Amino acid sequence: MIHEYAGIVTELEDRVCPHCHKPMEAWLAPPDSGWGVIVVCFNNECPHYVGSDKDIANKRDESRMGCRYAENPENNYAPFNLVAVCF
Ligand SMILES: [Zn+2]
Repeated sequence: MIHEYAGIVTELEDRVCPHCHKPMEAWLAPPDSGWGVIVVCFNNECPHYVGSDKDIANKRDESRMGCRYAENPENNYAPFNLVAVCF
């Protein structure tokens, strides 16, 4: 896949989420995260994501947070949990 932002084109491998087998999407992480462009499973039905809010420690009760499955291309596509607000 190709990710383009502010004139910077990043070419990434096409990745498929191992949990739901849907294509993952390129996403530019916030600058203060220390990441660049990462690939994320944005499928709200993903079994990795569904119910993941129970795993977040110190979560405020009414906050809608979840852990999406993500991989970091700059780290050999190492998987990690992206904590994100549900939407
Ligand atoms: Zn998934």
